[in-house]
Amino acid sequence: MAPRHRAWAEINLAAFRTNLREAAAVAKQAKVWPVLKANAYGHGAIAAAKICEAEGINRIGVGDSREALELRESGIRTPLLVLGTVIDSELPDMLTHQIEVGVHSELRARELNNLASKTRKVLGVHLKIDTGMARLGVRPEAALRVAQTIHEAPYLELRGVMTHFSAISGGKTAAGQQALFTSTLHEIQNSGIVIPSVHCASSAALYAKSGVIGNAVRPGISLFGILPREHSKPPNLQAVLSLRAQVVFLKDLPSGTPVGYGGRWVSHRPTRIATLPIGYNDGIPYRLGAEGRGNVLLRGCRCPIVGAISMDYCTVDVGHVPGVALSDVATLIGRDGKESICAEEVAEAAGTIAYEVTCSIGARVRRVFCEENQPHILNPIKKTVT
Ligand SMILES: *Cc1c(COP(=O)(O)O)cnc(C)c1O
Repeated sequence: MAPRHRAWAEINLAAFRTNLREAAAVAKQAKVWPVLKANAYGHGAIAAAKICEAEGINRIGVGDSREALELRESGIRTPLLVLGTVIDSELPDMLTHQIEVGVHSELRARELNNLASKTRKVLGVHLKIDTGMARLGVRPEAALRVAQTIHEAPYLELRGVMTHFSAISGGKTAAGQQALFTSTLHEIQNSGIVIPSVHCASSAALYAKSGVIGNAVRPGISLFGILPREHSKPPNLQAVLSLRAQVVFLKDLPSGTPVGYGGRWVSHRPTRIATLPIGYNDGIPYRLGAEGRGNVLLRGCRCPIVGAISMDYCTVDVGHVPGVALSDVATLIGRDGKESICAEEVAEAAGTIAYEVTCSIGARVRRVFCEENQPHILNPIKKTVT
């Protein structure tokens, strides 16, 4: 039977659960607060949040207010924290739905308190300290003053103090940021302010272990079985996502035929080209089309992507694979037989990071949730070969 979708991402929920439990084991006494921003790095935030809730997670991090509202609307009751900053127009919704936000300045703390006082609702906030990322957060020398402002504001409740590291792996920057965070924390605590939650570790810091300071950690990418490039992957982490598309067209070409926009690839032997209904709008990096950098798996064989990636399609040279048929399942990320292509490999080939590869998977690509990888659905041998 032909696959139901043109292109789809299989999301292995069992693997996500495994990675979540692994994070909890590594974090020891610290709570795991999964970061599900960017639609859970392209994997589907609602499904991921439901698993988190079932696993007893007590806070989830999101990127902006709309992501938080989407989870609330889908029935997620777990406390939510907008990790970055919110803009003025987003604040009323944060109050109505009791979504926690990061505070990055004294001005923002005062504005939030004013607004909250009008609705007579207390807003939970986390003070973010900039220890070296220089993106968001109050400078360490101003942190105590802002913490006091929050502490004294009747409609704000200081739920946590946080920072975000710009580098991990034992380098100077990391050690410096950790030291700065710890000393700033002590300054706030010594003033008598109680900080319920202290959190700083993303995936890299969690698995580097030395980076865990405080009583909560904020892993994102590792929950999807990926670690940032310079870190070696712990063996227990499992890739969650497989990206697949079905062959919608096959054609035999004589040698010397240009393929795709600009005719930048020309067949150098008689061959067969399979067209897949997935392109750069669906998250296949355009750069994979140049110079045949990308590969897909068909019938367990690596096949080079040839010609430019288009918005909706890409073309693959399958001349060396016997029996490829219409509606065969091609794997762009994931396993097919003995071969596999991971998001890290795609990132490397496209000159980007694995985060961008999974986040970029477009809305048109169906997310198909399953409890295990489904290699058995791949390409039964057909009697009639097109
Ligand atoms: C994205 C993010 C995280 C998670 O980072 P990973 O590298 O994906 O683990 C943690 N904290 C903050 C503030 C973030 O923005």
